[in-house]
Amino acid sequence: MSSSAGFVPLQILFSPAARHEPDSELGGPCHLCTASCCRYFALQLDKPRTKQDHDHIRWYLMHEGIVVWVQDGDWYLEVRTACRHLLPDNRCGIYDDRPQICRDYGLPGADPCEYFTDDLEYDVLFENDAEFVAWLEAKKAKRKKAAPKKAPAG
Ligand code: SF4
Ligand code: SF4
Repeated sequence: MSSSAGFVPLQILFSPAARHEPDSELGGPCHLCTASCCRYFALQLDKPRTKQDHDHIRWYLMHEGIVVWVQDGDWYLEVRTACRHLLPDNRCGIYDDRPQICRDYGLPGADPCEYFTDDLEYDVLFENDAEFVAWLEAKKAKRKKAAPKKAPAG
């Protein structure tokens, strides 16, 4: 009869404890990641207030690879394009000379990087101009409904 000493039940092999789930407190597990943070950059926008501001955002969103999102009242334009120095195996091609922002990102104690987050965490996300126009119209309709009715003259 053969020994069963080397047998490990499947549920133990695949339990979260056995897999050592990455912990955002310890920083990004870059060796497990497909370099999500090297595939975009985002710039903060002034909060749009005028018709012209809205028209600019609509225009940004007409472009491929552009999204706009809002988080805690702050507006951002995100350019979804990969860094030219990202290698096919997801490593940095200029590691020793990479910008400081790349060095600081995803470190222990910093905000969790994209490995731990996703689009669902935005307060609002616009992926194209049609979504933005629909949002503006819904906002306009809500404002109209909430506006006090004028008293009849006389
Ligand atoms: S910092 Fe985070 S998102 Fe960037 S490569 Fe490492 S794990 Fe991935
Ligand atoms: S320089 Fe390197 S670390 Fe920075 S975004 Fe480009 S590939 Fe990523």
